This record gives sequence, structure tokens and C-alpha cells, in this order.
Amino acid sequence: MPRALITGITGQDGFYLSEHLLAQGYEVYGLIRGQANPKLQIIERTLPDVRIVEGDLLDQASLMNAVQKVKPDEVYNLAAISFVMLSWNQPELTGEITGLGALRMLEAIRLTTGASSSRSKSGAGIRFYQASSSEMFGKVRETPQSETTPFHPRSPYGVAKAYAHYITVNYRESYGIHACSGILFNHESPKRGPEFVSRKITLAAARIKLGLQKELLLGDIEPRRDWGYAGDYVRAMHLMLKAKKPDDYVIGTGETHQVKDFARLAFGRLGLNWEDHVRTDPQFIRPAEVDLLIADASKAKKELGWKPDVSFRQLVEMMVDADLAQESKLSAASA
Ligand code: GDP
Repeated sequence: MPRALITGITGQDGFYLSEHLLAQGYEVYGLIRGQANPKLQIIERTLPDVRIVEGDLLDQASLMNAVQKVKPDEVYNLAAISFVMLSWNQPELTGEITGLGALRMLEAIRLTTGASSSRSKSGAGIRFYQASSSEMFGKVRETPQSETTPFHPRSPYGVAKAYAHYITVNYRESYGIHACSGILFNHESPKRGPEFVSRKITLAAARIKLGLQKELLLGDIEPRRDWGYAGDYVRAMHLMLKAKKPDDYVIGTGETHQVKDFARLAFGRLGLNWEDHVRTDPQFIRPAEVDLLIADASKAKKELGWKPDVSFRQLVEMMVDADLAQESKLSAASA
């Protein structure tokens, strides 16, 4: 039975990736930090087949212990301070976890497997996936963005992710580790955190429909994003680690929509007009915005045979429907 160790197991991608790997017959281990972590209960409830192992991306020895204990075939490093807005408030912590966290995990793999140089190939035993991000492209140098587009990150989060990306490439080249970096564009689902604009909109639309909320305060509604479905994107992660040769891949839909398009579709799904409910609030406007992010995922399509299945409209509707069901249940329970 193949074994996978996942950091960031309680996040959206951790959930979908675990589901995907469990369905493929994997034994899945989730790395959890600290004592009495409340997130444990979330895992027990939603992913009862995932085993827990203790460890912290800030603590090198704990990662080595986790790797030695689990003896994984594959490690997926999904953990990060992933909210761009928060990364300006906690830039150093973002660098430590999102950036250096990847290095610590690679070191844990290198030291455990004894990989010492690309010639020895001894690091080939544990395959490593790094969750890289389209935020690394930031102030974009070309459109659409591919694996060869230079980075120009525009937030402490993007800068930290760029470090993690390069250190992954470096450990592949230096030690022969099967390390891959997946440069994923925005990907959403009903499990997306409510701080992200997609989920913030679908949750608000559902609550407004149910009379639980009156308006939705957003920042800039003009930016465009290449939004895909997280369930499609975790398949790409797995395909990268299954490929013969480790490499880096851009994953996205190649289509962009504005924040206000997302709002129009979400409110429209419930028979509401978004313009009646959305207001602008300067507190949600960022110090710097990334430019037009749009993926050229042709390499992943050609080499991995990957393509997304869920369309933008299907994604928005899936999220709205899930939030309507959830909020109806919650309000019925509290009535
Ligand atoms: P990101 O691409 O990882 O930063 O994902 P987000 O979902 O956080 O933001 C997507 C875009 O929506 C960015 O351009 C934000 O500036 C814009 N946006 C507008 N209003 C909001 C808001 O209220 N919350 C968030 N999170 N983003 C907003």
C-alpha cells in the first residue's frame, strides 16, 4: 500500500487530495502541529481514514521524526500561511512557514534518505510535491504565464512561495530528489476558507437569500483571476509525483473572470442581483495587486494528460448550492 504524508491536511487541498489518494488505495498521513490542536476533530469528522502524525514546519527535528515514522512514498507540502492579505501583517511568519517550511521538509527527506548528490540518486526514494502559486508571477512579465515566465511576486506570501519553489528545484537538481513544484492558479470549492473572495461571495449570497445578512462588503471587484476547482487540481499534484521525470507544471484553466463576474453568477444562481447587495469597503483593498493572472497549462496537458473537468459556472454554482444548504441547516438548527 503506497503511503502519502500531507502537510496542510486541514486545508481545502488537504481534504481533496486525501480523498483522492484514499480512493487510489493510499495510506494517508496528515501532519498536525501542537498539542490538543482543535483541527484534529475536524479531521476525525471529515476524513476518518486519515492518520495523524505530529510535526511542525517550524521544527526541523519534528519533520525528520514524522518522515522516519511514516516512511512515506510521497510527501505533499500544502501547508502555508496562504492568505495574501494576512501575509502583509505577518510577513516574517509567512517567510518562516510558507518559505523555509518547504526547505525543512526537503531537508527531512534528504537526511532521512541519505540523498547526497544528484549522482547518487538516493533521494529518489521519497517523492516531494511543493504547492507553488500563481502569486509568484505577480506583476506579470508575460500573459498567459507558463513554467518559463519569470517571477515578480507582489506580496510577502508570493515572495515566500517563490523561495519554496526555487529550493524545490534546487533539491531536485542537487540531490536527485523526485521533487516537483505545481504552480497552481486560484482553485476553489465549497471547502475554500471564507476569507477568500470566492467563498466570501457564495456564503454571503446564500445568507442574503435566507435573510440572514443584508449586504456584502468587498474590496476591488475589477481584478481578474483564473479560477478552477480544487478537486481537479489535486489530481494534477498526484500525476506530477507519478510521472517518470520530476518537473514543474503550471495548473490552471486558461480562462479568467473578474471578481464582479463571480458575484454576478453567484447571486444570479439564487435569483438575486449582485449590484443590489455588494458595497465597496476600503479595508479590503490591498497595498498591491497582482496583474492579470492567466495560466498556460499546455505542458501539464501534454506531459501529464491533465485537464480540468469543472467549468467556471459549475464551480460557482456548486459553491453557492453548498452554502445555501449549509446555511439553511444552521439557521434551522438555531431557530
Ligand atoms: P488571491 O488571489 O489568493 O489573493 O485570492 P483572494 O480570493 O483572496 O482574492 C482574489 C481577488 O479578489 C484579489 O484581487 C482581491 O483583491 C479581490 N477582492 C476583492 N474584494 C475582496 C474581499 O473582500 N476579500 C478578498 N479575499 N479578496 C477580495
